[in-house]
Amino acid sequence: MKRTFLTLTALLLAPLVSLPAAANEAMLAFEELLKIDVHSHVFEDFPALNDLFQRINMRTVNICVPAGDGHLDQMHRSANELYRKYPEFYPFIATFDVRGHDRPDYAEKVIAWLDGQFALGAVGVKIWKEVGMEIKDQDGKFVLPDDPRFDPIYAHLAKVRKPLHAHLAEPIDAWLPLDPASPYFSYYSKRPEWHFHGKPGVPSHADLVAARDNILKKHPTLVLIGAHLASLGHDLDAIADRLERFPNFHIEVAARARDLVRHPSDKVRALFLKYSERIMYGLDAMWKPFLREKPPTDLERRSHLQMLELRYREDFDYYAGQGVMTYTERQVEALHLPRSVLEQFYNGNARRIYKLDAATKPAVR
Ligand SMILES: [Zn+2]
Repeated sequence: MKRTFLTLTALLLAPLVSLPAAANEAMLAFEELLKIDVHSHVFEDFPALNDLFQRINMRTVNICVPAGDGHLDQMHRSANELYRKYPEFYPFIATFDVRGHDRPDYAEKVIAWLDGQFALGAVGVKIWKEVGMEIKDQDGKFVLPDDPRFDPIYAHLAKVRKPLHAHLAEPIDAWLPLDPASPYFSYYSKRPEWHFHGKPGVPSHADLVAARDNILKKHPTLVLIGAHLASLGHDLDAIADRLERFPNFHIEVAARARDLVRHPSDKVRALFLKYSERIMYGLDAMWKPFLREKPPTDLERRSHLQMLELRYREDFDYYAGQGVMTYTERQVEALHLPRSVLEQFYNGNARRIYKLDAATKPAVR
């Protein structure tokens, strides 16, 4: 695929809408930069994907999720095996059972399970929106992410210095009426269980954001990554506010560039420049053949890889490119982030936060 090169060349020739911060820097080529997608879900030995990663200079952090659908063991076995075979491509993030939170030995058992995953190389732990939006107590009340029953687990993660990758809450659109103009219209139309608008007795978006803030207040040494722009993609000031207040809070952008492009580019650029050490790249692609009745066909594999490469290149055009571009059918000025910021966003922060340089060399671990 030569699309990005051609697009970038065309953009270079386009008149500048405003002068970007890095106007004098030479354009960085897509393949030139080591890129780490800190948010993917790969659960099969898929050699063509490794070839793609190699060719485009991409690596990933492989995330086990969700915790409550009954596939916990199978998913971790698959992630463990991929990591053993290809440590440079598939460092992984474990998750933990969110059922059984009523049992008195719940936290103790979770901690033992997670320690087992750390021994196998897990670089972090995932918590998903099912906590706060799905899991309920016996009395029918939603269990919130800052529930004291999780505190021993968070305290343990802080102690053993493993980051918590937290997809908590959803975009604000989940609490608003279904709107065809929203980038999430299709998702919430097909997945009404996550569309909380108008439902009685559900936590509000603010309740869930406050619960996440509360985890950070209770566990100030816990490193927490707010997945998907911390579900605050509609409000860059709210993101900045939390980055200011919580020094161990970070964010990643997986599947949320479509929120970023709805803001003025100079405001998005300012956020990336100011918090260049706190933002990581991610895409959120899913490859879970074990959920299917039949194994994927070669055609499905090829189209998955094509989609993946296209989306990686599209994202790169937005973050690194220059001038006006089209992103998800929206005209937007590319961010043209300086090379040093792109290095941090695309690899430096992930390497530091998840200690990936150690994880990708298991022999010396
Ligand atoms: Zn995901």
